[in-house]
Amino acid sequence: MADKATIGDFEMTAVIDMVPPSRAPSAMFPEVPESAWDPYQDTLEDGQLQLYYGVLVLVSSDRTILVDTGMGPGPHPDRGNVTGNLYELVSDVLAPPDNTRNTNVSPSDQVNFVIHTHLHADHVGWNLRYSGGMPAPNFRRARYIISRDDYDYYTEEKMLEQSPHVQRQVIPLRRLRLQQIVEGEHEVSEGVMVVPAPGHTPGHQVVLINSGGQKAMVAGDLLHNIAQISEPTWCAGVDWNKEISAASRERLLDLAEKEGWVVAAGHFPPGKQIGKVVREGNTRHWEPL
Ligand SMILES: [Zn+2]
Repeated sequence: MADKATIGDFEMTAVIDMVPPSRAPSAMFPEVPESAWDPYQDTLEDGQLQLYYGVLVLVSSDRTILVDTGMGPGPHPDRGNVTGNLYELVSDVLAPPDNTRNTNVSPSDQVNFVIHTHLHADHVGWNLRYSGGMPAPNFRRARYIISRDDYDYYTEEKMLEQSPHVQRQVIPLRRLRLQQIVEGEHEVSEGVMVVPAPGHTPGHQVVLINSGGQKAMVAGDLLHNIAQISEPTWCAGVDWNKEISAASRERLLDLAEKEGWVVAAGHFPPGKQIGKVVREGNTRHWEPL
């Protein structure tokens, strides 16, 4: 299943690594009263909030970029023992036609950059694979882009102890010489910027694409549910700082609406992961492409 959009020279494809068990809306958004969901029942599935773990693939004639790497192969005991499928799905998206396939080169070798919006477990899971306890990159020709503020926060001793996914999927990148720590607004590659959008985590960043006169944003966890387009003050319970999270969301949704950006939100449902932010009277809503 793939959601697609073209932004100038880039083809953007959303692939879903895995679908974790659904939860009650109040488990994900503890500060939103149950009745406030009434107008947004169509963003729920049988009254439950279903997240999808989507990853965005950006391909131009000379570059391939992944935004985040999903939850990883698993099975994941803390997510209903579900397994991830990203590596295979990305390989399908990037594979050349059968008759030109060189068996020595994996499609994943085409990836030039892996950009991390942030360092939560469901966004770094396919960075590395392990054999005999030794890590090796799944995207061995890629540079892994990580924000300074998230790197510092999650590698601080206490936090690192509680974050096995950082120990396994982030820490070894440095010794493998694959990581690049970036600060503030940073151009990763021509037409592709990371821009700080803190709140969900201290160093959460979005990816802005500007190509051929068209603009797009990969929103990361600025957005968890479609209702947040209309209700930007709604914050996930796991947000590090809710006030800052809401301010980042408001600021970027405003720009997305005014400048007509294509927006990709990996946690939205398949078929609705890529869309536009459209104003109707006093409120905004989501219009899938
Ligand atoms: Zn997430």
